Amino acid sequence: MSKDYDPPMHTAEHVLNQTMIRLVGSGRSFSAHLNKGKSKCDYRFPRDLTEGEAQKLEAEVNAVLAQNLPVREEFVTLAEAAGVVSLAKLPPEVQADPEGRVRLVKIGEYDLCPCIGAHVEHTGLAAPFRLVSHSFIEPDVLRLRFKVG
Ligand SMILES: [Zn+2]
Repeated sequence: MSKDYDPPMHTAEHVLNQTMIRLVGSGRSFSAHLNKGKSKCDYRFPRDLTEGEAQKLEAEVNAVLAQNLPVREEFVTLAEAAGVVSLAKLPPEVQADPEGRVRLVKIGEYDLCPCIGAHVEHTGLAAPFRLVSHSFIEPDVLRLRFKVG
């Protein structure tokens, strides 16, 4: 992921990931390419979304963004973080440091995940979200393309 990606786009990505987890039971995206204009996220998933799921996904992400939830950060110990979120994607040096602090990013009560990126302060600033396309690009990889604003 590039360092100068767009904070509204990236905040929408958090909400999108949590909505995918709740709606279809995928994990968070394992690969994301965020740009100001259009972004894509790849998920480990055994099939494409149905049109109904895609519509529901877009509507649910927009419903969450429209609540204008606060986006907050907190720093916790690795052990504390391990109790509430997956730390699998943290760099090895962080995982190996028992004194290490992890930055958790919390979106209202909707989403919580470790992240070092830049976000908007309220989800309304990342709206509206538009799911541009969904496709099954290779075995077990579902790709979603989306825009915000
Ligand atoms: Zn983030």
